[in-house]
Amino acid sequence: MPELPEVEALAVYLRERAAGRRVDRIEVAAINALKTYDPSPSAAAGRAVTGASRHGKHLDVELDGLHLVVHLARAGWLHYRERFTSAAPLKPGKGPIALRVRLDDGSGFDLTEAGTQKKLAIHLVGDPAQVPGVAKLGPDALDVDAATFADRLRARRGQVKGVLTDQQVLAGIGNAYSDEILHAARLSPFARTDRLTEEQLAALYAATRRVLTDAVTRSVGQRAAELKGEKRSGLVVHGRTGLPCPVCGESVREVSFADSSLQYCPGCQTGGKPLADRRLSKLIR
Ligand SMILES: [Zn+2]
Repeated sequence: MPELPEVEALAVYLRERAAGRRVDRIEVAAINALKTYDPSPSAAAGRAVTGASRHGKHLDVELDGLHLVVHLARAGWLHYRERFTSAAPLKPGKGPIALRVRLDDGSGFDLTEAGTQKKLAIHLVGDPAQVPGVAKLGPDALDVDAATFADRLRARRGQVKGVLTDQQVLAGIGNAYSDEILHAARLSPFARTDRLTEEQLAALYAATRRVLTDAVTRSVGQRAAELKGEKRSGLVVHGRTGLPCPVCGESVREVSFADSSLQYCPGCQTGGKPLADRRLSKLIR
């Protein structure tokens, strides 16, 4: 799932490639992905791309007074095309392309979604705050100051992994970067937020900034099409079960849940003790 760094990189990429171009037309292939009907996509025709920005994990393509707000969910992506191979309108319901934006110079982009779980959410609105997921966002994980960060984490009692990824507490962090941040901060994903010391909260804040800033720098350096691969290669613990931790050499371990999993290093984060994983304890060494 694209998180803050990848969405930030997409916004930078769009500002460089699309700003100043005018929308020729928007074509919708996946009716269910477009969550708004007023204004209709035809209202975007003729408008200039005036910018692109990010609200948490939502991408905001600014169209001179309108906002195309995109939540890529787990399997969504944006593909920029220098030129489309066909001028024919998209056929509804065919293939991974959900929505196409054609620009006046023949370039444009496709919003796509792989797989059968359709969670991609696109809103065309006059104000990004009209998107429910955006209105509820907490402060941005890269904008928040240390005191606010500490206050918000402590106020939402729970396991730190869940609290860090709660978009109403902090916007932008998901499953992958929370694993990385907790590893960098040397904290167990199951540590209770209301029991974190000042020192631990300060370490967590510093790790959040460092991990996300580094990831944004890496992601922005890549072309949009390559961002997914780069995300993987930059990670230290996430998605690396069984591989050695680059800090202490211990094997990275995993805890599985119904539809996700987290990775951590017992050496760096849990005093050498593996976390209980009842569901998969029989399968994992
Ligand atoms: Zn380690």
